[in-house]
Amino acid sequence: MADQRQCRLCKQPISGRADKIFCSATCKSQYHIKLNKVTMNASERIDKILPRNRSIMLEVMGKSSTQKKVVKAILDSKKFHFGYITHYHLNSQNKMVHYLYDFSYIVFSDQEVLIKRIGNLLNSDKSI
Ligand SMILES: [Zn+2]
Repeated sequence: MADQRQCRLCKQPISGRADKIFCSATCKSQYHIKLNKVTMNASERIDKILPRNRSIMLEVMGKSSTQKKVVKAILDSKKFHFGYITHYHLNSQNKMVHYLYDFSYIVFSDQEVLIKRIGNLLNSDKSI
């Protein structure tokens, strides 16, 4: 039959509800395990860069301050990856605010970077 639906994973014919895409709960579960694995593999590299970038922010900022202006070259020398952030927004002065988890930074045209910590220092940060 031309319109015979196939299981997305094992390609066996499916019977039952029209919106069914797997032949069984096992295939559905196996599919999602595989999907997660593929995504984990693909995101592994970036998942290492983001925490590393945050560590550089913490190291440069120190534990005692919540805001610090540094020359961009310091971050460059520590191999900070400017292209990797968790989120961003435009502030009221139309400056791009980049976020790395609970840190934010703004790059100024004079090659300075203003780093801010959002909220309180995490307890885990105090241990280093
Ligand atoms: Zn199946």
